[in-house]
Amino acid sequence: MQDLNEVWRGVLKIIEQTMPRKVFVTWFQHTAPMSYENGVFVIGFPNPFTKEWVEKRHTGQIFDALKMNFLDLTELKFVVEIGLANQDDLRKIELKDEPAKRARRVSGGREVSFGDGLRSKALQEKYRLNSFITGPANRVPYAAAQAVAANPGGIYNPFFVYGKVGLGKTHLLQGTGNEILRNNPDAVVVYITSERFVNEVIESIRTRHMKEFKEKYRRVDCLIVDDIQFFSSKTTSQEEFFHTFNDLFDSGKQLIISSDRAPKELNDLDDRLTSRFGMGMVVEVQPPEYETRLAILQEKCMNEGIIIDGEVLSCIAYHIEESVRDLEGVLKSIIAAVKLQGLVPTVGMAMDTIKQLHKAVDVREDFVSSDHGKPLHSGIPSAPVSVSTRNFIRNVDHLMTTVAKYFNISKQDLVGEDRRKEILLPRQICMYIIRKEMDEAYEKIGADFGGKNHTTVLHACHKIEKMLQTDQRIVRDLHAIKQELGLV
Ligand code: ADP
Ligand code: MG
Repeated sequence: MQDLNEVWRGVLKIIEQTMPRKVFVTWFQHTAPMSYENGVFVIGFPNPFTKEWVEKRHTGQIFDALKMNFLDLTELKFVVEIGLANQDDLRKIELKDEPAKRARRVSGGREVSFGDGLRSKALQEKYRLNSFITGPANRVPYAAAQAVAANPGGIYNPFFVYGKVGLGKTHLLQGTGNEILRNNPDAVVVYITSERFVNEVIESIRTRHMKEFKEKYRRVDCLIVDDIQFFSSKTTSQEEFFHTFNDLFDSGKQLIISSDRAPKELNDLDDRLTSRFGMGMVVEVQPPEYETRLAILQEKCMNEGIIIDGEVLSCIAYHIEESVRDLEGVLKSIIAAVKLQGLVPTVGMAMDTIKQLHKAVDVREDFVSSDHGKPLHSGIPSAPVSVSTRNFIRNVDHLMTTVAKYFNISKQDLVGEDRRKEILLPRQICMYIIRKEMDEAYEKIGADFGGKNHTTVLHACHKIEKMLQTDQRIVRDLHAIKQELGLV
């Protein structure tokens, strides 16, 4: 019989290759192989949140890795073993976080010289096409970027991306450049803002190095010029860019350009240039809709290796509509509070942060109230999280069964009189969910729980509300239950 711990370590090694170390540690820390019998491998997780996350995303991968050790493996079982979170529980696998190494690598954008001492700020590794989250608003630009990366200098040349600030243009441009480099490490891929291009032209004229400047740019395989709107009417540099553009284009080199407006609206640019921009692929990035905004926030949390309750994320996604940069700004500020002050993120904290950073946003104070799905003013779309609410909780009985199952107690316990903590807390959580999600009266809830007084229910709701401000475990439990119910 193989040592299960050994086997599990092997599996973790394989999984670790597929994600950043920090993320890996967050989700696989304190997991343990519980048993292997009759083709069923049981894996233990310290809490429901990590169990659900891993089960959803990595079942196939884990199965394949385990199959290499157990040919007769037929099934994986994911179970919660609360004890694994306990320091003294020796069954679990202890993983050490090594954030420093990776962080340095990611933050230090590469400086690449492509010539005679003049240096160009090159691509930043953090911008990758596969970390770009897509939805209806940016699917076309993303698909075009992928096509360009797969076939530079092909039919999508030049590739022109436009849209308002903070919508991911730079990310797409650099991601495409990085992908081209990944496919062909010897390619000369140059990323430059139009401002910087102008400065280089001016500097080269001043130092009489114009010839070198021209030669340098003619050696490029893929030229990426960001924010072309800053060219304005600076004619010498525009002229120079025009020639560079033509030379590269004629030799089949890829040009990628971004701007805050469509080519024909670039009034300060020479018509000869703007008409050439239209010869390849012109795409617009638009503000992402709610689901994409939420997915972006989830992805960023995952990359940071931080768990934030879905309700908090949906509150941010709901309010910040116009810019992904702003979305990130709010999230970063919350993550800083978590890391530096050890605070547990709450919807209230998200609202305060939004108010602080974005005074113009009309923050909906009742976002977490039981009916936060209903628009406050007509015309404001409700957050999808709660739109689905009433569809999924079929009835109180269904909810009670789900909660009881989650906490591994019986439904009789849930509605009974036992006041031991492991029974009382699930009961109170259950009451809280009914109140918040189903909008039942306190009296009715009391009656459903074996004829309890309405003040008992009131007390339970207040208690859980308070605990949600401070107790990360309750936040996670509630999140996991809501996930089970299809509410998040
Ligand atoms: P722009 O150049 O259009 O002003 P950026 O590319 O600088 O916008 O994007 C702002 C921030 O938002 C960046 O950190 C970027 O990584 C992030 N971002 C924008 N769109 C997406 C997306 N679809 N998926 C993931 N991150 C995104
Ligand atoms: Mg930009």
